[in-house]
Amino acid sequence: MASFRIGQGYDVHALADGLKMWLCGVRVESARGFVAHSDGDVAIHALCDALLGALALGDIGKLFPDSDPAYRGIDSKILLSRVMELVRGRGGSVVNADITIALQAPKLAPYILQMRETLASVMGVDAGAVSVKATTTERLGFVGRGEGCEVWAVVLVSV
Ligand code: MG
Repeated sequence: MASFRIGQGYDVHALADGLKMWLCGVRVESARGFVAHSDGDVAIHALCDALLGALALGDIGKLFPDSDPAYRGIDSKILLSRVMELVRGRGGSVVNADITIALQAPKLAPYILQMRETLASVMGVDAGAVSVKATTTERLGFVGRGEGCEVWAVVLVSV
């Protein structure tokens, strides 16, 4: 009989001028991007931690340490596909994922469908199983001041 495991993940990256902005595997047009050792895809990082959390497999900081030059500038979709290999290796399959991105600017609405499709294709699930939501924080806090981006991810894994 199948059993279910829930996982949640959280990540924050700082924003700085002149850097690229990648979110959910999609390049977002922005004059500011994420400060990071990898491509800075804070949404994929939160999703990876949710997947790892569901099966108590640790976290991406442990799996892909930012002290390792192998991960410098790496496409976070590669990290997600490696995490999915671990999940499948434990007999897990993703039932659904739900991601909330808090970012003051730019507006992400034009990118949401592509983000869902991109993540679904890397995870090998239907786009209907992947939800991506975006919100501002009404100019409050570090997100509201445009200093960074905060992402929460929840996944359900069937094992
Ligand atoms: Mg990160």
